[in-house]
Amino acid sequence: MAAISVRNLAKNYGDKRAVADVSFDVSQGEVFALLGPNGAGKTTIIEILEGFRDRSAGEVETLGVDPANRQTQRWLRTRIGVVLQELAVEPFYSVRQVLTRNAGFFPSPRPVDEVIALVGLTEKADARVRTLSGGQQRRLDVGLGIVGNPELLFLDEPTTGLDPSGRRDSWELIRKLASEGTTVLLTTHYMDEVEALADRVAVLNDSQIVASGTPASLGGRDSGVVTIRFALPQGISASDLPVPILGESDGLVEIQTEDELPVLHALSGWALDRNLRLPGLSVARVTLEDVYLKLTRDPR
Ligand code: ATP
Repeated sequence: MAAISVRNLAKNYGDKRAVADVSFDVSQGEVFALLGPNGAGKTTIIEILEGFRDRSAGEVETLGVDPANRQTQRWLRTRIGVVLQELAVEPFYSVRQVLTRNAGFFPSPRPVDEVIALVGLTEKADARVRTLSGGQQRRLDVGLGIVGNPELLFLDEPTTGLDPSGRRDSWELIRKLASEGTTVLLTTHYMDEVEALADRVAVLNDSQIVASGTPASLGGRDSGVVTIRFALPQGISASDLPVPILGESDGLVEIQTEDELPVLHALSGWALDRNLRLPGLSVARVTLEDVYLKLTRDPR
């Protein structure tokens, strides 16, 4: 059974179209990322899946039930964890108090001290929420999302505002939850986060999905053009090379090819025969960010 199933989902706010004809599935245990520019419709989709927002059209199932069905909504809310973009928690409660209160809403919560340790707030366990820094509050948000021990976790931009070490800690936590079988649906604006965490990704632009797949294959990344760069060895000019170059920039020559093995073979053989090195040699496919920008910037 899919943890999430979305078919031809649409949402309008008055005349404004926020989501149009969106379909995707998320399998149990999968980490699925929704990417897209500001206003593309990510939060709207997530909130419909959580049952916090009504839809205008389409079929949706979250953990096998319609999230808009009032009869199963209470059941569903005890099985999902939600980390919204901004969470309003009582500023005068301590971290432990807020988590303990929330744990009480769920049938089999995680132990509160375990959650505090998982999100790296042990030293702040007794601090009032209002005294936490922005990044520490974000950690608490994540703690509130996982304290109910959810089967399915929604993370809306979970690492926005975190310092680099906090981001890495969050990634570790998400990986740990996924390895324990938790399904994760996350939105993010960070491509490295998608590459580090997501099994699959869908890119939204202007209310619709414009591409989906694994981060490595999105938009044909795995079969596209490869760029080879290196600095010319001393005394060698570009015309001495055994393969044609595209150009030179920042002291590096650039070669582009869709079939990199024969080109690398010719280059390395040529260099080894002459006892030369190719300083700074790198071989790079199109980055996820390149693909993302093309998908979301090009006029359709
Ligand atoms: P971001 O990356 O900025 O979080 P998003 O992809 O999550 O953006 P949404 O918040 O889903 O985007 O918004 C999609 C569109 O719907 C936007 O144009 C937004 O202005 C509009 N919208 C969202 N909520 C409402 C609302 N309650 N009433 C009217 N329009 C809304």
